[in-house]
Amino acid sequence: MHSDLISKIEKARHYAQQPERIAIDSLHATFNGGNNTHQITITAGVWQCDCEFFKGHATCAHVMAMQKILAPMLSPAARAATNPLDADNLAEMLG
Ligand SMILES: [Zn+2]
Repeated sequence: MHSDLISKIEKARHYAQQPERIAIDSLHATFNGGNNTHQITITAGVWQCDCEFFKGHATCAHVMAMQKILAPMLSPAARAATNPLDADNLAEMLG
């Protein structure tokens, strides 16, 4: 194996331990919610999900799960957007 490929593999292993190096700008995912699958997108920090709950609340379990999983790779706005797991938002949502 070429030594330059070996060095790239080592670098990739190193990068994989540092997800904060990655900033997700846009993403489309299919989320298996158990009963249905849902289409989730994030574009410029704005989340969308095609489930019923999202329509009324601008967030849902699917988006919240994605925010938790992808947290190191999301902008602060995308991490916090309408996320009741974010303390400031929860206080606002609960009034
Ligand atoms: Zn949803």
